[in-house]
Amino acid sequence: MNLYGPMPSQDPPDAIEIRVRGRVQGVGFRPTVWRHARELGLAGEVLNDADGVLVRVAGNEATLAAFIQRLEGEPPPLARIDRIETRPFAGPLPDEFRIADSVAGVAHTQVAPDAAVCPACAQEIIDPFARRYRYAFANCTHCGPRLSIVQGIPYDRASTTMAPFAMCHPCEAEYRNPSDRRFHAEAIACHSCGPKAELVRLDGRAVSFDQHSMLDDVDAVCGLIRKGEIVAIKGLGGYQLACDATDAEAVARLRRSKRREKKPFALMARDLDVIRRYCAVGVEEERQLTSPQGPIVLLRAHGAETLPEAVAPGLATLGFMLPTTPLHLLVLQRMNRPVVMTSGNLSDEPQVIDNAEARERLGGIAAYALIHDREIANRVDDSVVRVMDGRARVLRRARGFAPAPIRLPDGLAAAPDLLAMGGELKATFCLVKDGEAILSQHQGDLEDAATHDDYRKNLALYRELFAHTPTALVADRHPDYLSSKLARARAQAEALPLIEAQHHHAHVAACLADNGYPLGAPAVLGIVLDGAGSGDDGTVWGGEFFLADYRGYRRVGTFKPVAMLGGAQAAREPWRNLYGHLMAEIGWPAFAMNFPELEIHAYLAAKPRATLDAMLKNGINAPRASSCGRLFDAVAAALGLCRERHAYEGEAAARLEAIVDEDTLRHEDDALGYPLTIPNLRGSGLPYVEPLAMWHAILGDLILSTPAPVMAARFHKGLARVIVAMTCKLARRDEGAPLFDTVALSGGCFQNRILFEEVVRRLRAEDFTVLSHARVPANDGGLALGQAAIGAAQLIDIKDNRRGNQPCASGFPDGS
Ligand SMILES: [Zn+2]
Ligand SMILES: [Zn+2]
Repeated sequence: MNLYGPMPSQDPPDAIEIRVRGRVQGVGFRPTVWRHARELGLAGEVLNDADGVLVRVAGNEATLAAFIQRLEGEPPPLARIDRIETRPFAGPLPDEFRIADSVAGVAHTQVAPDAAVCPACAQEIIDPFARRYRYAFANCTHCGPRLSIVQGIPYDRASTTMAPFAMCHPCEAEYRNPSDRRFHAEAIACHSCGPKAELVRLDGRAVSFDQHSMLDDVDAVCGLIRKGEIVAIKGLGGYQLACDATDAEAVARLRRSKRREKKPFALMARDLDVIRRYCAVGVEEERQLTSPQGPIVLLRAHGAETLPEAVAPGLATLGFMLPTTPLHLLVLQRMNRPVVMTSGNLSDEPQVIDNAEARERLGGIAAYALIHDREIANRVDDSVVRVMDGRARVLRRARGFAPAPIRLPDGLAAAPDLLAMGGELKATFCLVKDGEAILSQHQGDLEDAATHDDYRKNLALYRELFAHTPTALVADRHPDYLSSKLARARAQAEALPLIEAQHHHAHVAACLADNGYPLGAPAVLGIVLDGAGSGDDGTVWGGEFFLADYRGYRRVGTFKPVAMLGGAQAAREPWRNLYGHLMAEIGWPAFAMNFPELEIHAYLAAKPRATLDAMLKNGINAPRASSCGRLFDAVAAALGLCRERHAYEGEAAARLEAIVDEDTLRHEDDALGYPLTIPNLRGSGLPYVEPLAMWHAILGDLILSTPAPVMAARFHKGLARVIVAMTCKLARRDEGAPLFDTVALSGGCFQNRILFEEVVRRLRAEDFTVLSHARVPANDGGLALGQAAIGAAQLIDIKDNRRGNQPCASGFPDGS
C-alpha cells in the first residue's frame, strides 16, 4: 500500500486514474468505491479489469485526497489492497459517478475464499420483519459461499451451483442496486427463489410430526440434538455430524459409529459466552473465532465447566468454532451448550458432499439429516488455527483461507507460472501465477483413494479457475509419494520440466515464503522437526538442521538416526520406537539388568523381541530415521501414553504436550530438563542430537515414580535446550562473523505449542531472529508453498542464466 505514483506538484489535475491491486474483485469493492465517490460528490467511474479495479474520478485536490484515504481506510471486509497507484487522467468522464461494465476478457477474475456470515446478514435472519427472517442461505457481497460453489470462470452465478436458482424480482433489484450490500452478490437468494433446507430421515422413513418444530426444519435439528440424536448437517463445504457435546453417551456413540477412536472432535458454540464456560479465550483467539475465515481455534480447556473426556481424549485443548453460516446460526440459536460438529465421513475418508452419498454413507451414523438443494461443488474442510507465541498459526488451511493468494517474496515474484504438487499426508498443491502463490485447500492424505481422486479433481479445477498453464512442475523427491508419481507422469505427458525438491528443504522454503523472506537474502538456519521425509543419503530424515535459502541447502546437523523397526509400522506403533531407542542406546542385557522392576521392561519383554532383534541385526525392514517425531513417540511410550498404537497421526506428541506440568516447565531449574548432547556422527562428522543421557534420566525418573507431567515438562525443556545449543554451535559466533543470524522453524513437531514457544524464547534470548509459520501450516500442508518457492528460484536462475545446474553461490555443496 501507499505506493503512490507521481502527483504533479503544481497545477493539480482535475481528474485522476486510480489503480487498485490486490483482492478487489468479487468482494464488493466497486460499490464501496461508488458509495465513497457519491458521498464526496465526485464524478467518474469504477470498473474491474485484468489488473484489479480501475477508478477514474474528477474533483478538487482535497476531495480526491479524502477519497483515496477512504479507499484505503474503509475497504469492504473481504478485500485486501496490495497497492494503490494514481496518475493524471485526461479522457472523458460521466457527470455522475457510475459503475461501468467490466472490461471484457478479464484474465484473472479471482475466486475468493468462502466467508463467514457477516453481522448484517446474521442480524437479518433473526429479525422477524426482515425479508430473509430465518433464511438459512442468506448472504451478501461481504459474506457467504465462494470456493465451495464455484464450477468455472468467470466467477458469476452461471458458473456456480446457484445457477439453477432463478433470482426473484426483489433479489434481482438488490443485485442491480449499487447501494445495496447485495450488489452483484452472485449467490444472492431468499425464501422465494433460493435453496431450501429440509429435515429428512436417512433411513428413508418420513419425519414424524413430533420431530417437527414450531418454527421450521432447521430449528427442529436443535431439538433432536438436545434429545441425544446425531444429526448429519449439510454444511458449507461438506456434510458434518452434530451431537450434544455435553452428552457423553451421544459422543461415545458418534465415535463408535464413525469409527473414530480418539482423534479430537471439533466443537461449535452459539457464541463466545458458551465457549468461555469451557475454555480460556485470549484476545487473538477471539479475533480468529469472529473473523471472516471463522476457523476452528484450538483453545486451552480451562473454564467453569468441562466436557466429557470422549470429546478430545487425553488432550488439554478443545477446538471450537462459531457458526459461520446462517444455517448453523439458526441450528444453534436456541442451543445453550456446545455441539460436536465433526466432518461427515467414516474415519479417514473425505467428507461427504452429496445428498445421495449422505444417505448411503452416513445412514449408519445419523438417523436424521438436515439437507438442502444447493450443491457443494468443491469439498472444503474447516480450517484449524492455533495461537502460539501470541500469533495465530494456521494448522489446516481450507475454508475461509483457500484459495486466497499469497504474494511471493521479493525476487521470486518474477518466476514463470508453475505448479507444485505438495506431499503425501495433509496434501495441498500450489499454483504460481503472476508472482502469486495460490495454495489449494487442505486435501487430506493421498493414500486414501477417494482423497487422491479429489486431489486430482481439484488440480483440474484450479487449473481452470486460474486459467493456469504451468511451465514447470515441482514435486517431493520421495519416489513413492502419489503426488510425485503424478508429477512425473504429467511432466512426461506434457513435456514439462520436473523439479524435485527435498522434503525438509521445502519445509524451510515454506517458512521463508510464509515470512516474505526475499530471494538472495542471507542463508538461514532451517530447523525442521517432523515425522519423516526422504533424505539424500537413503535414510529417513526428520530432525534436520539446514543452512539454507530458496536455492539450496546444506545439512549441517541432525538428530540421531535410530532404526524404525517394522518400517512404516513404526510410525503407527510408538512402542517400536521406544524399543529401537533403548536398543540403540543401552541394549537389552543392560536394560534388563538395571531396570527389571520397570513396568516397561515387562511390557517390552512380552513383544516379539527375537524378530525385532533380527530386523536390527540384519538391517531388514528397519530403516534408520533421524526423526524428531519418532523420538516423541518413544518418549510417550516410555511414559505410558499412547504406547500400543496411534489412533491418529501425531497422537503421541499431542498427548505428551497435553500432560506437561506448567509449574515444572516454568519454575524448575533448567538443569533438570533432560540432558541431550551434541557429539559428531562417525564418518560424516555431522553434529547430532544424542539422547543417551536423556534415556538414563527418564529411566531413573521412572524408577523414582516421578509423575508423568513432570517428566513430560523435563523432556520438552531438554529438547528445546539442545535445539538451541545446536543452533549456537552451528552459528559459530565465537569464531568471527556468525554463519547466520536468522533461524526458520518448520515441520509438524513445531505445532506443539510448548516445544515451539520454548525454542522461540530461548533462541531470542541468544539474539537470533526467529521465522515461523503463520499463514501456511508448519506441517506437510505447507510443503507445496515451499516447493513452489524452490521451483521459482530455480526457474529465475535459469532464466537469468545465473548458475544453471551449478551448486549455488551461497555455498551448499550437498544440496540444490
Ligand atoms: Zn452478509
Ligand atoms: Zn429471491
